[in-house]
Amino acid sequence: MNRPETPETHPGADELLSAGPSDQRKQPVSPQAAVAELYAGNRRFAAGAPVRPHQDVDRRIALADGQQPFAVILGCSDSRLAVELIFDRGLGDLFVVRTAGHSVGSEVLGSVEYAVTVLGAPLVVVLGHDSCGAVQAARSADATGVPGAGHLRAVVEAVLPSVRRAEAAGVSDLDRIVDLHVEQTVAVLLDRSAAVAAAVAARECAVVGMSYQLTTGSVRTVTEVGLAASSTPPET
Ligand SMILES: [Zn+2]
Repeated sequence: MNRPETPETHPGADELLSAGPSDQRKQPVSPQAAVAELYAGNRRFAAGAPVRPHQDVDRRIALADGQQPFAVILGCSDSRLAVELIFDRGLGDLFVVRTAGHSVGSEVLGSVEYAVTVLGAPLVVVLGHDSCGAVQAARSADATGVPGAGHLRAVVEAVLPSVRRAEAAGVSDLDRIVDLHVEQTVAVLLDRSAAVAAAVAARECAVVGMSYQLTTGSVRTVTEVGLAASSTPPET
């Protein structure tokens, strides 16, 4: 596009969509619209046909005065899980917090709360993926009784409850354990963050757990809280 954009920091309720490539001015402001936008971008990425929106000079300049990301992504740090790439988004779209195994500590909670309560993001996504090394490390630590060295231990201990929950449920497949860990992280987020829980209760925000598949590049929904069932996008 050729004209400067003005960031809309206080969108009206009528501005439901869209941040699609045909109209880069508006961001989705409902949880349902935000999820739909992420899935649309992921389908483009997985198909090898990204449009790379919001990566131009005009967008960069327009955002200098403020941001209004439409989703918070709490994802694993894995280098293959590059968030703006896999959702085919650009500058100012996604507020990204990444730790190994999407482990949650105070700084993570504070960052998510900032995006939800100050920036008004209507969606929080917990993003895991298959073949997750953090889950494998926790599984190994559980089997050997040896936690990780140094600060790795904090990551292992954050993932261990999910590994033990899987054991108790008789689940041994690594990727199914990853799904359980995504569910666990969503639960931890809502349990430990009163601010996020309140935003969900007020229907201002939803929390969705997703899992990314390394080979296909596709994301699917694992669990969701605060998102009307009728608006769930079809799984690809
Ligand atoms: Zn991982």
